[in-house]
Amino acid sequence: MADPIALITNIRADYEARYLDALASAMPNESILLFRNLDSEQRSRVRIAIVANPNPADVAALPKLVWIQSLWAGVEQLVSSLPAKGPPIVRMIDPEMSRTMAEAVLAWTYYLQRDMPTYVRQQRDQVWNQLAYKKPSSLTVGILGLGALGAAAAARLVNAGFNVVGWSRSEKSVSNVRTFSGNNGLTGMLRISDIVVCLVPLTSQTRGLLNAERFAAMKPGAALVNFARGPVVVSDDLLTALDNGHLTHAVLDVFDTEPLPPDSRFWHHPSVSVLPHISAPTDFDTAATVIAGNIAQFRLSGMVPGSVDTARGY
Ligand code: NAP
Repeated sequence: MADPIALITNIRADYEARYLDALASAMPNESILLFRNLDSEQRSRVRIAIVANPNPADVAALPKLVWIQSLWAGVEQLVSSLPAKGPPIVRMIDPEMSRTMAEAVLAWTYYLQRDMPTYVRQQRDQVWNQLAYKKPSSLTVGILGLGALGAAAAARLVNAGFNVVGWSRSEKSVSNVRTFSGNNGLTGMLRISDIVVCLVPLTSQTRGLLNAERFAAMKPGAALVNFARGPVVVSDDLLTALDNGHLTHAVLDVFDTEPLPPDSRFWHHPSVSVLPHISAPTDFDTAATVIAGNIAQFRLSGMVPGSVDTARGY
């Protein structure tokens, strides 16, 4: 009898039920059970756990665990809460998520290119004022992070006619994108970007990456889009850069604390668009298909799919 697969989540009950359904449909020959429904004999045989914000004690209660499949692309919580020498963590890499994120990046880049923040204000104040049209080719979009999501966003922007530059930890070659790496590369990239899109994972290296010094390096009048994780940006420094007009607008999908607390200045700031962490949600069905592929490979070969480098943090 094959070992059961544990689904360990700490998410909305209706989402948990949707994931369980999608996973069961994608893997009809596997037995996928909610962790809380596993008896002790079953727990002792589990080799694979599929997780979303799991309680670390639940993961620790599976003595034969070989690997952990995350339902999320961002794994900073898992990396920081699970033992560094524990079973490898496989994060969600789903082409549908990359497509969704690229769509969100394009949508909000258009929002900024077409001066929507100004027109929103003008409508509120009943002002009829036509701003000069800016072609995509007149704007440079800088993407921080050229991974599964950043690279897809870059390709979508190139296709839409924007100049695209990108920054990553290691040097990279991406078609039609000028690439930068390292600290000097970051400053060089910020200096020429009209819109900066943040898609780096949250690690010890990227926490607080976008601070007062980095905002000062950005072009006067530039805008920021943060679709990665809140703590990559120093919120107070961003508010200062928006208050003094050095940056014109920020589109924020992620925050230090989520949901965004009622007393956050971001809610009412005239130069901020607040989104409730929706730029690229995990798709129940395509994620289940990706996981089914990973598990089938493991069952066949015993090989754990490519996993997170816990020392690097992503
Ligand atoms: P990924 O494939 O691991 O790519 C990460 C990219 O960031 C890589 O290009 C990497 O450089 C670069 N990077 C990492 N650390 C760096 C550093 N210190 N300096 C410079 N570049 C660095 O990750 P992904 O799948 O694209 O996802 C990115 C993040 O998006 C996730 O971690 C998550 O936080 C966030 N996310 C948000 C949502 C949402 O709805 N808002 C949805 C999904 C994911 P190398 O190429 O050199 O390794």
